[in-house]
Amino acid sequence: LLMAYDPAKRLARLNIQLQASLVGVEMLYALLDRKPAIEEAEDAVPLKVGAGRVRLRNIRFRYGRKAPALDGLELIAEGGKVTALVGPSGAGKSTVFALIERFYDPDHGNVLIDGQNLRGVTFESLRRNIAYVAQDAFLFEGTVAENIRMGRLDATEEEIRAAAKAANAHAFIMAMPRGYETELGENGATLSGGERQRIAIARAMLRGAPILLLDEPTSALDAEAEAAVGEALARLMKGRTTIVIAHRLATVRHADMIHVIEGGKVVESGSHGELREAGGLYSRLYDLQFRD
Ligand code: ADP
Ligand code: MG
Repeated sequence: LLMAYDPAKRLARLNIQLQASLVGVEMLYALLDRKPAIEEAEDAVPLKVGAGRVRLRNIRFRYGRKAPALDGLELIAEGGKVTALVGPSGAGKSTVFALIERFYDPDHGNVLIDGQNLRGVTFESLRRNIAYVAQDAFLFEGTVAENIRMGRLDATEEEIRAAAKAANAHAFIMAMPRGYETELGENGATLSGGERQRIAIARAMLRGAPILLLDEPTSALDAEAEAAVGEALARLMKGRTTIVIAHRLATVRHADMIHVIEGGKVVESGSHGELREAGGLYSRLYDLQFRD
């Protein structure tokens, strides 16, 4: 019994899970692809983030021998602003995230953060500066505290609680039988979709990364859960560069900039008002969503 609580073992378990989840589905795909693994440059230097401006410059990228997923894509996400990516399924939105996280290098063109080419920066510094929140949070077997600690492994208990509070998660965690020590997973407590998302947001809070990638974390939630998660997200986004893949166009209305992606490139950019005015693809997608 003692063995099971051995902190070193727990940490080892945490670490394996951590790697599995950070890399996520995209990386699993990457392993299946024929592409050579991305390697850190021998002279790689730490990424230094100032304003947090993300730029994809003239990107062409394809998975294996498939047709290009991105083809001539140009995109800027200004530092500290909210940039939304919208467009039909298969347009290339998730691939944009995969390149920003450097799960792959583009076949042509470059990804830059504050002017620094990602090909030349260390993996550790890139990971530290980017937080990703998916549509459905990945939780693993372990306590609530351990699940949040995934955001930053050396965080203190106090930091974990502060992050949970900011993520609107503290109250529901305290209402569970053993609070932060409650076991989650197969034989442990189960959380609702909204609670899972707030754990994921707490993780991202803890990481404190200046660049946030959101794959619309509220799209699978009901209205009530969405309100609690939305409030936590607003707190998380404050002062950071946010790029959000928006599935529901209602949520992009207040983005500083919207890029419409279709067929692997940006076909329209502007604010909600500008794009409505233009009457293009965005406008058509918007009408389709709000007809029902
Ligand atoms: P979106 O997120 O806009 O729905 P994606 O970036 O996921 O679009 O996909 C763009 C294109 O790349 C699609 O044709 C998709 O089938 C393909 N694709 C995405 N991920 C992979 C992958 N890991 N391996 C092979 N093809 C992929
Ligand atoms: Mg996608």
